[in-house]
Amino acid sequence: MPGGHSQTLRPFLWRAEKLYGDTEIVSRTHEGRTRHTYSEYADRTAQLANALDEYGIDRGDRIATFCWNHTRHFETYFGVPNTGAQLHTINPLLPDEHIQYIVEDAADEIIFVDASLAPKLAGAAEGAAEFDDVDFVSMGSDEIDALDATPYEEFIAGHSTDYDWPDLDGDQPAGLCYTSGTTGKPKGVEYTQSMLWSHTMASQTPQGIPMEDSDVVMPVVPMFHVNAWGMPFTATAAGAKHVYPGPSPDPADLAALIEEEGVTVSAGVPTVWLGLQEYVTEGNDVDLSTLDTVIVGGAAAPQSLIEWYDDRGVEVLHAWGMTELSPIGTVSHLTNDLRDADYETQVDKRSKQGLVVPGLEFEVIDEDGEEIPWDGEAFGELRIRGPWVTQEYFARPDASEEGFEDGWLKTGDVVTVDEDGYLQLVDRTKDVIKSGGEWISSVELENAIMAYDGVSEATVVGVPHERWQERPVAFVVAADSVDRDALVEEIEAGLREEYPKWWVPDAVEFIDEVPKTATGKFSKKDLRERYADQSLVEGSVPEDDAPEGE
Ligand code: AMP
Repeated sequence: MPGGHSQTLRPFLWRAEKLYGDTEIVSRTHEGRTRHTYSEYADRTAQLANALDEYGIDRGDRIATFCWNHTRHFETYFGVPNTGAQLHTINPLLPDEHIQYIVEDAADEIIFVDASLAPKLAGAAEGAAEFDDVDFVSMGSDEIDALDATPYEEFIAGHSTDYDWPDLDGDQPAGLCYTSGTTGKPKGVEYTQSMLWSHTMASQTPQGIPMEDSDVVMPVVPMFHVNAWGMPFTATAAGAKHVYPGPSPDPADLAALIEEEGVTVSAGVPTVWLGLQEYVTEGNDVDLSTLDTVIVGGAAAPQSLIEWYDDRGVEVLHAWGMTELSPIGTVSHLTNDLRDADYETQVDKRSKQGLVVPGLEFEVIDEDGEEIPWDGEAFGELRIRGPWVTQEYFARPDASEEGFEDGWLKTGDVVTVDEDGYLQLVDRTKDVIKSGGEWISSVELENAIMAYDGVSEATVVGVPHERWQERPVAFVVAADSVDRDALVEEIEAGLREEYPKWWVPDAVEFIDEVPKTATGKFSKKDLRERYADQSLVEGSVPEDDAPEGE
């Protein structure tokens, strides 16, 4: 008879509480830093679970968060799924219309919201029927009038610090995160208990993003992005100290946390690490001596970034992943054979997206439907499968049909694989732009721009950008009679109204005709290559509009 319990999150917290009861969970807030121990955390998580029971939450109900990275958000990470409910993290950087769609699609019962993000959520909720049945809990200590939100401390106050955590099945949905599609609405990815368990265990292998009980772990990657790449779970499995950087941390905030809390492992998109690099090169003295490893993913890690951190004794681990993969797929560790190689060879390998982590399988299929050879030259679409790879999109048979084939997830990423097995991402088949780790739908912008009088064709292309990796540029074919300056102004003002500011293209360029492929589709590759020198997007997004997500 097969033995054992299901694969669930419960044992990770149980162990951390028993073995590391005094280890700290630190959080930066507007009012200073908060400090809790795992022991206190476990008590508060139980109080949250009791409060959810009293509210009437049942197994399978969905609870959403609209929050930055902080301890209360982390309390929902175990407190919600361990009761059998499902934690749905919402990305607050999305356009209002996407947020409305997501809340309706997920049928959230409660949304936990940060005070600083309340205006954004209130704006999306205003007059939107999708929010009629939703209650709000404020993550600060104050009520939020605009949303009639109960303060979190009031919500959990008076509840018992004991909770009889149920035995859950591995198939029980535990998490939910939406990812932006090429066209149409965002697609939900459900994480079951066993997906999160297996992702945590794979992360903890030496070929993953391993952590130890001596580590101090600071996820800069937002907790609304694929569970901050699973780090809150992995750090708990390890019994490590957690450090949460709070609302919109800037390089000075990160530097202070690294120095004062002794951070050893951190993670985020390249934009975050380029920001810290710039802060130091501008003359700010930052002590990085405790920092061993920085996990960089969500977008390609530039080689210069890897070298800069190497020079300061910080190892950059370049990782590739997707929302659909909970998210870790590959990590660029050096194989044993390469450990004695010269530095140049090593950095060359480390700037690739890396080696598949144990537990996953992949294949790369070229345009003729054939598997490519592992020669570092041939390329094709990456398909991947494994225990923490989703097999369908939430309530979207149409998207599932398109996104999966014979049990493989079709990633939409075009890769090469070299003789040593290192994957390198060379293109994307999906028509989206990733800027500072956040998706911008080029198709949505194109449709919006084409609705203006005088525009006969428009295409929006992501051009390379040093800091944001990509920025959108619009290429417009306009009627001869049009006043071009007035049209640009009108388009920019219109887009600014409809979309988050960081979606607005950095430039609107007029062209005679959009280049087309043999089959008559817009050839964005052509335009991307023409503007690869970044001349159109220098300067780019103002600081306070920065997305810095993922
Ligand atoms: P998301 O689902 O939002 O996490 O985005 C996943 C996508 O981000 C992947 O399919 C890639 O296109 C891109 N991506 C993630 N990690 C990397 C990386 N290390 N280098 C380049 N692109 C990446």
